[in-house]
Amino acid sequence: MRFLQSLRASFSSSPSAGHSRDIYPVMVRCRRCEELLTIQINLSNDLSQDYERDLFFVRKLISGSGANRCFQQIEVQLTFDAQKRLLDRTISGGSFVDAA
Ligand SMILES: [Zn+2]
Repeated sequence: MRFLQSLRASFSSSPSAGHSRDIYPVMVRCRRCEELLTIQINLSNDLSQDYERDLFFVRKLISGSGANRCFQQIEVQLTFDAQKRLLDRTISGGSFVDAA
């Protein structure tokens, strides 16, 4: 039961609720089953630095919850500038969903 509750909580929480400056939420939609999935990039811990270009980048593989019996993996790659502002993003296996 505890597991179910925490699962539900993570689905209903909006990305803007109590988010810290270090957390960059990314919402994606699975290309196969259209499930919405949100991941949170920790700008302090998750980014790798590209010293040559003075950029930060992160690559994440996202798996569906399995609720739709879909196990498509979505690959997201984000590039940030030296001030950790988003410069570029690419995705395969799904599409980005921008919160209104
Ligand atoms: Zn899916």
